[in-house]
Amino acid sequence: MNFDLTSEQKELMEAVRRFVDGRVDPRMGAIEAANQFPDDLIGEIAAMGLFGISIPEAYGGSGLSHFSRVLVHQMAGRTGFGFAGLLASHTGIGTEGLVAIGNQDQKQRYLPRMATGELRAAFALTEPEAGSDAGAVKTTAQKKGSKYLLNGVKHYISGGATAGLITVVARTGGANSKELSVFLVEPHFPGFRVSTKTYQTMGSRGHAVAELFFEDCEVPEENRLGEEGGGWIAAVKTLNEGRPLVAARCIGACERLLEVSVDYARSRQQFGRPIGDFQAIQIMLADMAMRTEAARWLTYRAAHLADEGLLTRESVSMAKLFASETLAFVADAAVQIQGGAGYMVGNPVERFYRDARVTRIYEGTSEIQRSIIAKSLLR
Ligand SMILES: Cc1cc2nc3c(=O)[nH]c(=O)nc-3n(C[C@H](O)[C@H](O)[C@H](O)COP(=O)(O)OP(=O)(O)OC[C@H]3O[C@@H](n4cnc5c(N)ncnc54)[C@H](O)[C@@H]3O)c2cc1C
Repeated sequence: MNFDLTSEQKELMEAVRRFVDGRVDPRMGAIEAANQFPDDLIGEIAAMGLFGISIPEAYGGSGLSHFSRVLVHQMAGRTGFGFAGLLASHTGIGTEGLVAIGNQDQKQRYLPRMATGELRAAFALTEPEAGSDAGAVKTTAQKKGSKYLLNGVKHYISGGATAGLITVVARTGGANSKELSVFLVEPHFPGFRVSTKTYQTMGSRGHAVAELFFEDCEVPEENRLGEEGGGWIAAVKTLNEGRPLVAARCIGACERLLEVSVDYARSRQQFGRPIGDFQAIQIMLADMAMRTEAARWLTYRAAHLADEGLLTRESVSMAKLFASETLAFVADAAVQIQGGAGYMVGNPVERFYRDARVTRIYEGTSEIQRSIIAKSLLR
């Protein structure tokens, strides 16, 4: 495995880093307060081509490899998870399924508009009674002529309130059937409704996390993604491909926190010396750097395996689990290094500390990642 970056990859990372640091980060305080992303910034993200990174060139995207996508998400994580979450639901779980198993007609209808950001995507699996136990979804899809009628509720859906296309997992073949299928739902389909209640999240704010209702929602048969009953495999594949991207965003956040912490340790004076002279602070900085580096290699390895067609569930689970737990450690240390200043609202480390928490919950909790890894050992 060779993880040397090509000159194109270095340029890509640098361009995204400049955009994130220069254009997005200064506005994150306001975005977090409003819990909403401003349209002009969405336009800039689109102009950068960031909405098209997972979409093949034939459909107007840049068709980046898994590895290059990881690099983009790594840079997105530098500003915490409000922006990264917006990018994640669209370029990760919202798009992966359609690209992987969509037919020509579906790709032609949706991907070009998704590549420009005109249509933003979301992925709706989780329900009030189906969280970690994702196979327990209760939303049903009943065939009626040339349509399916969807009934049920999805909650905590990132980008759900603003999406132009939602990949929805539902049960076909009756309420007791084990068959899951996947559908592409547009928000104007009759019977679809977004809750008027906006979730107020602890962190990772601004990317329209919503509750979605399907009440005899009419979905044309041609909007079924893949085979009827092929939904579980599609959902697992989508989540597997999304997890290295979560890990990458965690790494970007860790890198930013490390930079801020080193600067602070150099400049903050106590007992007549910079606090970076104290071994207790040095140990924290060393551990932050070491764990971030280890998380990076696990994540790059998972992306490399995905590009080689060798992706395994345990490789992506290890990357997601380790990177998100590393971020928890790094964010905590970053607050500690700044003492009282780190606890003040408006200080980025305080926002990162809250943002970080969700990465151990969504796209599979830490407990579920451990269970996947252990099952592969015990198999
Ligand atoms: C901000 C945010 C955005 C989200 N975005 C999306 C999205 O875009 N699309 C989507 O479909 N979902 C989304 N989710 C949902 C997310 O994936 C779920 O919250 C997550 O999978 C956990 O499900 P749950 O909340 O129902 O917790 P539960 O499954 O009820 O888990 C509660 C606790 O029990 C533990 N637990 C459960 N089962 C086991 C087990 N077998 N072994 C050990 N421990 C177990 C869990 O690890 C956890 O600690 C989002 C969630 C949040 C918070």
